[in-house]
Amino acid sequence: MTRPVPRTNSLHDLPYADATRLILSGKHPDHVETVNPPVHRASTILHASCKELYDPDCAYVYGRQGTPTHRCVEEAICTLEQGYGTRLTPSGMSAISSVFLAFLRAGDHVLIVDRVYSCVRDLCNGVLARLGIEVTYYPASMGADIAALVTPRTKMIWMETPCSNTMEVQDVQALVGVAQEKGILTVSDNTWGAGFFHKPLTLGCDISVQAATKYLVGHADAMVGAVTTNARVWEDYATAHRELGMSVGPDDAYLCLRGIRTLGVRLKQHEHNALTVARWLQTRPEIAEVRHPALETHPGHALWKRDFTGSCGLFSIVLKPAPRAAVEACVDALTLFGLGYSWGGYESLALPFTVPETETSAEQPGIRLHIGLEDPQDLIANLAKGLEVLTAFPSP
Ligand SMILES: *Cc1c(COP(=O)(O)O)cnc(C)c1O
Repeated sequence: MTRPVPRTNSLHDLPYADATRLILSGKHPDHVETVNPPVHRASTILHASCKELYDPDCAYVYGRQGTPTHRCVEEAICTLEQGYGTRLTPSGMSAISSVFLAFLRAGDHVLIVDRVYSCVRDLCNGVLARLGIEVTYYPASMGADIAALVTPRTKMIWMETPCSNTMEVQDVQALVGVAQEKGILTVSDNTWGAGFFHKPLTLGCDISVQAATKYLVGHADAMVGAVTTNARVWEDYATAHRELGMSVGPDDAYLCLRGIRTLGVRLKQHEHNALTVARWLQTRPEIAEVRHPALETHPGHALWKRDFTGSCGLFSIVLKPAPRAAVEACVDALTLFGLGYSWGGYESLALPFTVPETETSAEQPGIRLHIGLEDPQDLIANLAKGLEVLTAFPSP
């Protein structure tokens, strides 16, 4: 039995000119059950009647406020983060700025972990300062003693664990304890844990923010942010998100949903590969410290073990003092590691950074590594080459 071939000229008999036919043809509302939801590209969303258009419970109003494609991604992230509601934003940074703008007003005070993702500092020192919002940076090692920094105007505590580059693990439970007692909002940047290895909302945080650009998208081909909140603050956040006009292209949203499907297997492989490389790096004499929270030697290991169920591909190494040029020659020799910003894709990356002066007396060079899905033994051989270049570098 062969199936009949359906006709493709079903509008043939309509009494319209070509210009009109071009507009009307090629729209099939037929419902087909595919594995993946279709990508809804939309500015205008058509309503069946004025009654539906003005219905306050209308699910899809206008493209900017999201299509079924966006709602599918939001549901997947919300499930992962065990939240009440999720909204997408055009990048991780816009997720962060939208949370500040949603909850802060002139005269408010915010406590931000001092090793926060560096662009957040720029945002605080720029836009937030201009709006009259005051920021105090607190040490990443602070727990319940953060109470000493709280003022009557303190509105929010911002966490990021582990912190960018320097990888300190924060005591989320102690910070949340103080915040709840004093009625302060808590937000955690959960990009490293990706909602898979770490779930801030289950630890009492009000909001979890992710640069979905990293592991959720997972293939270095789209920018997306995600904000997940608990029930208490959802209405306020979702309203601000709408007012701010935060809108993500449906194709990028779809890429994020596609990435999410393999998040679990990718992260477990990133974890295995990164730990294999990190343990090898620990044996190398050129390296002062391997900063990976899942290593027993990491100062935050116990907190990591308490609050995380695994580790991703991102960690850093601190080298013994070396000239900047030597570190750059070492990184340039890492042919299997891309050189560039962001991380969380399937590929390995290396990026030099400097350990903040407040931590060491001499300036110490570091390299942030993202370990991808390549064979870890190939990565190790490549790193060995890079370290040879470092050692052979002529001293000034
Ligand atoms: C990359 C990153 C961001 C910013 O995300 P973008 O999508 O690049 O704007 C925010 N927080 C952390 C921890 C990040 O690593």
